[in-house]
Amino acid sequence: MKTVIVGGGLTGLAAAYRMLKGGTSEVVVIEKDPEPGGMAASYHIGDYHIEKYYHHIFASDRELIDLITELGLKSDLQWLKGTTGYHIDGKVYPMNTPIELLRSPLSMLDLIRLARAVLMIKRTKDTSALDDVTAKEWILKNAGNSVYERFFEPLLRSKFGTSHDKVSAAWLFGRIRIRSNRGASGEKLGYLRGGFYRLIEQLTESIVENGGEIMTGCAVSEIIFDRNERSEKRVCGVRVGAGGRPELGCDTVISTVSPHALSRMIPDAPDIPYQGTACALFGMDRELMSDIYWLNIKSDVPFGAVIAHTNFLPVTDYGEHLVYVTAYFQDAHDQRWQSQERELIDSYLDGLEKLFPEFRRDGVRWWRLARNIDTAPVYLTGYARNIPPYATEIDGFYLAGMFSGTNYPERSMNGSILAGFGCADEIKIGSG
Ligand SMILES: Cc1cc2nc3c(=O)[nH]c(=O)nc-3n(C[C@H](O)[C@H](O)[C@H](O)COP(=O)(O)OP(=O)(O)OC[C@H]3O[C@@H](n4cnc5c(N)ncnc54)[C@H](O)[C@@H]3O)c2cc1C
Repeated sequence: MKTVIVGGGLTGLAAAYRMLKGGTSEVVVIEKDPEPGGMAASYHIGDYHIEKYYHHIFASDRELIDLITELGLKSDLQWLKGTTGYHIDGKVYPMNTPIELLRSPLSMLDLIRLARAVLMIKRTKDTSALDDVTAKEWILKNAGNSVYERFFEPLLRSKFGTSHDKVSAAWLFGRIRIRSNRGASGEKLGYLRGGFYRLIEQLTESIVENGGEIMTGCAVSEIIFDRNERSEKRVCGVRVGAGGRPELGCDTVISTVSPHALSRMIPDAPDIPYQGTACALFGMDRELMSDIYWLNIKSDVPFGAVIAHTNFLPVTDYGEHLVYVTAYFQDAHDQRWQSQERELIDSYLDGLEKLFPEFRRDGVRWWRLARNIDTAPVYLTGYARNIPPYATEIDGFYLAGMFSGTNYPERSMNGSILAGFGCADEIKIGSG
C-alpha cells in the first residue's frame, strides 16, 4: 500500500509519523514550500529560528505535549508568563491580574458581569447547541452591551475582522476554556526553547529514519481517480507540478491542505470558509512596550494585535527584540492581501507610530512578512454540521487538517496533530 500525503504541515507530518510507526511502509509527503511546517514553519535569522506566525501552546494541548516528549524535546518545553493587555482609547491596559482588571476601562459592574459570563462558560460541558448562536448574541444576552463593546468586540474583531459578529458562541466557549492555566499573576503558556522549528525538525527526521519520504518544493496539481472492480470511484495517484508531468501512483491520498487549495486539485472540494493572515515580524534594537506579550488593539490601525515575542521569551535568547504585528482578513480584495509587501509594512509602521509615541522606525533592523489567504477556518454559526469526516466517499481518499473536528472550535498545532493521528488510525483500521 502506498500513501501520498498532500501537505507537509503538522497534520501531514503527524499522519506520516503515525503511519510509519504503525508499520505502513510506503509513505510520501509532498509539500509545495521549500521546507515543511506549513503555518508552524519558521524563519532562520542569524543563528536562531523564529516562527513566521507567533506560536505558543496551552497546558491542555495533551497530544502535542506527548509528541514533544516522545521526540525527546520535553526538557526544552518551558512554561512562561504570557501577559496580555488591551490598547483602548489611546492607552495600554494590562489585563492579567485581578488588580489590573480593576484598573481596566471596565466598570465594577461590567467586571462582575464578565466574571459571571466566564464562569458560565467554564461550567458548560456540552456546547453543541451553541454552534447555532452567535458569540455576539450570547455575550449581549449574558454579559450586556458594555462588556461586549469594551472587552469582547475588540477580541472578536482582531480574530475575525468583518466576520466578528457571525462567529458561533461555541467558538467563544472553546477559546475561553483553553485559556484556564491562569494563576494569581497571569496565564502560563508553553514554548519550545529554540522554537517550534525543533518539533518540525524532529518529526521530519523521524519520518525519514522510519523509511518515509518528504518531497519539498513541489505542489500537487491534481488528485487522480479511476474505478475499482465494483465500478466505484477510487484514488490512483497524484500529479505533481503543472500539466503533462507524470503521475505518482498510490492507493491512498490524505489531503491536508485547505478546501480552497484542494479545489484546484479535485472538482468537489468541501466548502468551508477560511480567512487569511498578514503577519509582519520586526527585529528591533529596543523594546516596543514593556511587560505585555500580547496586546489586543481597539484603534483605527490596519492590524488587530501586537505580539512582543521577547516579552514572552528572554530577549537574550535572540540578541534583539522581536515583535509581530498582525491582522486577519476575510476576503481576497482586502488591502492587506492585495498591497505590495513594502506598502503593507509601511502601513503597519505608521500604525505603530500612532499607538506608541516613543516608537522610532530607525530602531527596526529588519522585517519579514508572512501572508497566506488560508490560515484558519472561520467558525461561523452552523460550522460543526459541515465538518468533513476523515474518510470521503471515494475509496482511498481522506481529508484531515485545520478543518477537521479535532480543530473545532479552535484550530491549533494540537488539533492538527490529532487530525493527522486520527486519520492515520482510521486508515489502519480500514486496511486491516
Ligand atoms: C497567525 C497564526 C497563529 C497561530 N498561533 C498558534 C498558536 O499560538 N498555537 C497553536 O497551537 N497553533 C497556532 N496556529 C495554528 C497552527 O499553526 C495550525 O493549526 C497548524 O500548524 C496547521 O497545520 P496543518 O498541517 O493542519 O495545516 P498547514 O500548516 O496549513 O499545512 C498545509 C500544508 O499544505 C501545503 N500545501 C498547500 N497546497 C499544496 C499543494 N498543492 N501541494 C503540496 N502542498 C501544499 C502548505 O504549504 C502547508 O505546508 C497559528 C496559526 C496562524 C496562522
